[in-house]
Amino acid sequence: MAEAVTERQYQGRVHQRSRQLMSAWMSELARAEAEGVPTGALMISGNCVELLRACHVLPMFPEVTALQNAIRKKSLPLILKAEQAGYSSDNCAYVKADIGLFLDGGMGPGKPIPFPTITVCNYVGCNVYVKWFEHLADVSGSRLFVLDTPFARTPEPTPGDVRYVVSQLEELITLCESVSGKKFDIDYLREILGHAARAEAGYARCKHLTRHRPAPFDAYFDSINMMGPINVLRGTREAAEFFDEAVAEFEELVTQGLGPLSEERFRTVVEGPPPYPYYKSFRNLFTRWGAVAVQSTYSTVGGIWEWGFRHDPQRPLESIAEQMLRENLTNRSITARYGQIKRYVEEWEADALVIHSIKSCRLFSAGQGDMRDYFTRELGVPTLLVESDLEDPRYYAEAQLRNRIDAFFEALEHKKLVGAGH
Ligand code: SF4
Repeated sequence: MAEAVTERQYQGRVHQRSRQLMSAWMSELARAEAEGVPTGALMISGNCVELLRACHVLPMFPEVTALQNAIRKKSLPLILKAEQAGYSSDNCAYVKADIGLFLDGGMGPGKPIPFPTITVCNYVGCNVYVKWFEHLADVSGSRLFVLDTPFARTPEPTPGDVRYVVSQLEELITLCESVSGKKFDIDYLREILGHAARAEAGYARCKHLTRHRPAPFDAYFDSINMMGPINVLRGTREAAEFFDEAVAEFEELVTQGLGPLSEERFRTVVEGPPPYPYYKSFRNLFTRWGAVAVQSTYSTVGGIWEWGFRHDPQRPLESIAEQMLRENLTNRSITARYGQIKRYVEEWEADALVIHSIKSCRLFSAGQGDMRDYFTRELGVPTLLVESDLEDPRYYAEAQLRNRIDAFFEALEHKKLVGAGH
């Protein structure tokens, strides 16, 4: 019997620094009302966070609050509150946890989260957001701005698409000026975009380092430490410096030949968000098999940086529009996602694809049955499909998940042994 695989008990600088930065941002939010700083609710996917920063509007993200409540096992009472208010049981649980939170007085995890001054529905890909942010604006009494981003229909956004989004960004600037009382300065936006581009290059470099064997970090479970800085804090000097440190730390691990586990036995690509209420338990189901994610689609919901796209200070509004239109996972078709996963499997030399299907998220989950068939039958990539939820703990069935995962890796191990001529 092979030796048991364990997680290395190593809390690196990346983990600590990410926590510090996110905590500082939440403290800023907690003080915002008292200090008269306007706040703007945004969604993560393909966001225009740089623009709010340049307009002196402090960004807040209902999804981040929802997932933090889920990790702290506080989501269920909030979900139930929203269901009592009329939300159906199969509605997106992020929405329910967030609306439940506001119906409950708007307290965040640990620190008070203010009601937003403006609610910017930067609608990208998932139309649930429109109704979510409409209701959020209603319960919080904030001003609603719906930023309509056309779905990607062509490999490159058309000039008309870019103009359409840019004209809405200009309207958003006018709205921000009216709530902040400060004049918009394009040079300040350029400076912020310079920081953003530096952070994007750093994140891309980290993701390319997982091509090494062993990968220096788990590109699904550990990516969460980088997703806060890249999606929420993008455009700050601190986020840019954070990624310089992350690259240095991961390069050091590569040099030392260290990964997140005592042994990397299987390299996986993971599709779909994680089950936040049982993050650690779910991770353990893979750790015991020595399975390390070398790439994941979820880590690209806010932006796909590893193929080279960067915000451009010389084309400020245009490059923000292009990122919203094309350079993020959620505004692309399912077949474009197939292409992304296929590249990950081939270029990162993965042994298998793991699809974690989310019960309450149709954007991610619709078509994943066909996806499994495509990867298994057409491409011959061993593929595991398991299901739970990203926010609602009622859908997490550990025993069933464990059975499926164990059976899958047992078969994969057997295949490896046979392939190696044992
Ligand atoms: S349905 Fe999915 S993509 Fe849409 S808001 Fe909910 S979790 Fe996000």
